[in-house]
Amino acid sequence: MIKSFRLQLTAWYLLLFAVLFVGFSLFLYGLLARGLHKRLDESLSSQARTASGLFQDELGEHNGDAPAAAAEAISEMNFRGALLAVFAEKTLLAASTAVDDRALLDVVGQAAAGQREAYATISRRGKTKARAAAYPFQIGSRRYVLLVAESLAATREELALVRGVLYVALPLFLLIAGAGGFVLTTRSLAPLRWMAEQARAITDKNLNRRLDIGAAHEELRVLADSFNELLSRLDQSFETMRRFVADASHELRTPLSVIRGEADVALAQDRSSGEYQESLAIIQDEARRLSRLIDDLLNLARADAGHVNLRVEEFYLNDLLADCCRVFQGAASVKNISLECLFSDDIAFRGDQELLRRLMLNLLDNAIRYTPPGGKVTAKLETVGSEVRIQVADTGIGIPPEAAPHIFERFYRGDQARSRQNGGFGLGLSIVKWIAESHRGAVDFTSLPGEGTTFTVLLHQ
Ligand code: ADP
Repeated sequence: MIKSFRLQLTAWYLLLFAVLFVGFSLFLYGLLARGLHKRLDESLSSQARTASGLFQDELGEHNGDAPAAAAEAISEMNFRGALLAVFAEKTLLAASTAVDDRALLDVVGQAAAGQREAYATISRRGKTKARAAAYPFQIGSRRYVLLVAESLAATREELALVRGVLYVALPLFLLIAGAGGFVLTTRSLAPLRWMAEQARAITDKNLNRRLDIGAAHEELRVLADSFNELLSRLDQSFETMRRFVADASHELRTPLSVIRGEADVALAQDRSSGEYQESLAIIQDEARRLSRLIDDLLNLARADAGHVNLRVEEFYLNDLLADCCRVFQGAASVKNISLECLFSDDIAFRGDQELLRRLMLNLLDNAIRYTPPGGKVTAKLETVGSEVRIQVADTGIGIPPEAAPHIFERFYRGDQARSRQNGGFGLGLSIVKWIAESHRGAVDFTSLPGEGTTFTVLLHQ
């Protein structure tokens, strides 16, 4: 089995070429052989007719002496072929050379019996020797047959010459076609080799490089373009991963350094129990933040790896929303924000209750966090056709248009300083989006800076 594609292509090309060449040569050779034999038969027939005319003339001159007339006609014909003979019916009158072959007499017999020209190929000891034509004609009431035979040597020589040319031409042409085919396939596959070399040089360090195949053919261009698109996607996800890791490490560092700093200060000298309590409270706070962040990161990493199996159960979404509102009631009243939860009927839903709780908590958390004191937050739950709509609206600071395209990105925070002070990691909305999508839903928002924001989650029932 040939492994090389180039050699395989060339071999197929050669095989096809050889079959075509041999087929065409056989066809041409057959045509030529038939043509030559036909020409010989025509020449034999015309010579027989001429000789029969001569014989008729001589018969007149020799007062009906058929053998003498035949001998005269034969000598006058000066026939350069192998044989010329005149028969009266089947009886030989005269011949240029001895008519000793059975096949010759048979053809004369055929012509005499059928009263039409007959032809035969004469072979001796298995070798084709001559071609004979017997021409029947009538003078008065008597019937004669003129036999003409000519050696096939010249025809055979001509055919042998053609065969010789073909025997030499076939390997020669195959050689030229093979070399040509090989060069051609090498040339047309060269861009593939070039592409492979370039692809080999691309690693995770230079994923921004692209294959360049110059002015290659359409088919290879399609391949190169698809490969380049794949590279772009890989590059993008590598970049996202790198950013994710960098951002995650950055976020983990802050609470950790607060914890370490606090512990270092507390342990540097003897403190009062009040001071220890204060330090421990700070450490506890930061540790909570840390575990929240790690939970978020774990969730997102699992979601990315496709490892999250939703724990689907049936529950009432209105109960869940009421629960979540209760969680934030305290935080809202501390900030002097009125928090309202609106829903009319029981809305049964099949989904992952824990994840949906997370979604609602994140939205409510944001709404309260980004709404100044005196503002209002409204959470509304309703069914719209076959969908459930969860809306969380606030009268907060709003989202500036330049931030709008980014707020669902991981670690994106509208205003770094403000958000940090407020304690967000920039992961809340990416988690909301992922939860909504994993429930075959979607999340969107409308916002007017300075007036408020409304997040809408649509879930399929
Ligand atoms: P964060 O932890 O910073 O709140 P999120 O992913 O929840 O992260 O939100 C990303 C950014 O979107 C926030 O930093 C904030 O700028 C903006 N944002 C989210 N919710 C609101 C809202 N209700 N009002 C105004 N801005 C919001």
